[in-house]
Amino acid sequence: MKKYFYKVSLPLAIDQTFIYQHDSQISNGSRVLINFKNKDRIGIALDLCKKPSFKTLNVKEVLDESVIFNKVDLELLFWTSKYYFHPIGQVIDTFTPAYLKKLNPKVEVKAIPKIDNKKYDFKFKKSLTSKQKDAFKAIIKTKSNKPILLNGITGSGKTEVYARVIAESVQNNQGVLILTPEIALTPQLSAYLKDIFNDQVETYHSGVTPKRRYEIWEKARSGETKIYVGTRSAVLLPIKNLGLIIVDEEHDQSYKQNEGLLFSARDLAIKRADLLKIPIILGSGTPSLRSLHQCEVGKYIQVLIDERVHSQTPPEISIHDTNGMMLNCGLSDLSIQTIKKTVADGKLAMIFINRRGYAPEFSCGQCDWIATCHHCETNMVMHIDRERLVCHRCESVFAIPPRCPNCMSDRLDSVGQGTQRIEAFLKKELSIKNVFRFDSDATKNTGDLEALVDRIQQSTSGVIVGTQMLTKGHDFKDLELVVVLNIDHGLTSVSPFALEDMAHKLIQVSGRAGRESGRAKVILQTRYPSHPTLQRLEKGDYNSFAESVLSDRALQNIHPFYFYISIKSASTRLERNINFLSKIISYENLNEEEFAGPMPLSIYKQRGKYNHQLVIMSASRTKLHQKIESILKAISRIPESRQLSWKIDVDPLQF
Ligand code: ADP
Ligand code: ZN
Ligand code: ZN
Repeated sequence: MKKYFYKVSLPLAIDQTFIYQHDSQISNGSRVLINFKNKDRIGIALDLCKKPSFKTLNVKEVLDESVIFNKVDLELLFWTSKYYFHPIGQVIDTFTPAYLKKLNPKVEVKAIPKIDNKKYDFKFKKSLTSKQKDAFKAIIKTKSNKPILLNGITGSGKTEVYARVIAESVQNNQGVLILTPEIALTPQLSAYLKDIFNDQVETYHSGVTPKRRYEIWEKARSGETKIYVGTRSAVLLPIKNLGLIIVDEEHDQSYKQNEGLLFSARDLAIKRADLLKIPIILGSGTPSLRSLHQCEVGKYIQVLIDERVHSQTPPEISIHDTNGMMLNCGLSDLSIQTIKKTVADGKLAMIFINRRGYAPEFSCGQCDWIATCHHCETNMVMHIDRERLVCHRCESVFAIPPRCPNCMSDRLDSVGQGTQRIEAFLKKELSIKNVFRFDSDATKNTGDLEALVDRIQQSTSGVIVGTQMLTKGHDFKDLELVVVLNIDHGLTSVSPFALEDMAHKLIQVSGRAGRESGRAKVILQTRYPSHPTLQRLEKGDYNSFAESVLSDRALQNIHPFYFYISIKSASTRLERNINFLSKIISYENLNEEEFAGPMPLSIYKQRGKYNHQLVIMSASRTKLHQKIESILKAISRIPESRQLSWKIDVDPLQF
């Protein structure tokens, strides 16, 4: 009897496939039940191969009537594995719905049902402004397969433009994928689209139960529903006849996954569109320098919307020098007076501070004792609502000591401020009734965030105090004032991404204001009032900021003119990291301009382990990848590599 031999992938940490035999042919991309090391496991049949010289086991069962990854999906998965230097089995596992990984009971994926083409009838609720119309036309008439960067300032109505483009695809019976950087943004976007496309909109993200996720995955395959809004994990959703991909807030660093497979969903989406030869729109009010550079060199097409929907001007940012000032709970007199006035006028104000908790330091006033987490060598953060000290790196929780454990003094103090302290200050000291805390602690459970947004919308007056969550696409009515605290470190950080990250946050958080009236004000408290970056951002004009940074950097070896791959190592023994990374440099004879490090990561220690990295860099991606291939070979000859854990991070964002 003729036997067929297949390469099968398993979710293992080694970059290897395994050969199994079967009596009949199996379609590539099907799930198969196999015996591996005396255990039943589910693998994916990847490809037919020659009869090997060793003895092979039989495939026990082909589980599906239909493949779970088609040809293009498999091509994308292999590309991902190669690009991110990550084992193919684990890459596949990352994008397999959890429900299909269960052995008990096994689920069978049926053949794709046939669905008749329909004629859809949509009602748009708004008529496009002339700027939106121009953008829509420019997008529709683009004939090349280059990604389109929709660079539209905050409040310019990008969502409405997406909706028009989506309608074109759906009318042609094509499916549409829309990615957002965070789960928190999906309800708002899908509600907007449901208002137009009714039952043609589904949401897919890790907050949905595995069973439900699988149902949506099946819907996507069948083409029963056309429009899918999702986060990172949705990037490979098997949408039938996929005809358009939109990546909203493309600049957002949350598109990068920071555990397991360290991929960027934005970049995978671009690759997917490229393989399928379908249009992709990257939308943002503050595009990444990477994307703007791609436009400059003609690899992306830029479509601008430089006016807000109701032609309000975006708020100007007033740079407020706080050097030598007495601050009250981190706020200057000017900030406090302006907040009070805004609330008295029956309007909303917002304070942005990128720090949750009550205070970032809890220490003794008598000696030099500071509460630190021993696992992470970092300050414990005071959380007043829980009456506990919390480590933000490992989530360890400690009781608040009544006396200094070092000198027994009772002069213990909370130093500095986070969202909770400012909330308490506004309520107690300024007697403001409506204070809304907008951070991850206040929105832990599903539905919390929506309820909070609702409460804010219903009370026109008050103060929102929040973290970077505020910078993400939310639309608040009557927001007249934004006070920005503590973003100075973005000006001084060594990370090549810090400056744009700071600019994104500042412009995005400012962009929440004055969307209705246009009279809004932004106060930026800083100790670097004459820093050129702040000067450039003063007019609230992100594009001119980006232009000048790009021209400054064109002559330097730095992002976005340079690419990075980081080798990250973690060990309980600091010197092991250093030895390991130093040996890579010497084994590979790296030139000075090819690397940086070994250096500690910004999260220097976590859960008892020290984190270091060696950053390899080049102006050429191809050369950079070749270098890493050679480094991987060298690593197998370094004994320390087996005494610590290390990983490759391609296009890292954390330095
Ligand atoms: P962006 O994402 O570009 O910051 P949004 O898509 O959130 O902007 O739109 C800002 C606001 O303008 C939303 O409240 C939206 O409903 C409204 N809007 C968008 N387009 C129009 C239009 N053509 N006419 C009236 N209102 C609009
Ligand atoms: Zn003490
Ligand atoms: Zn800790």
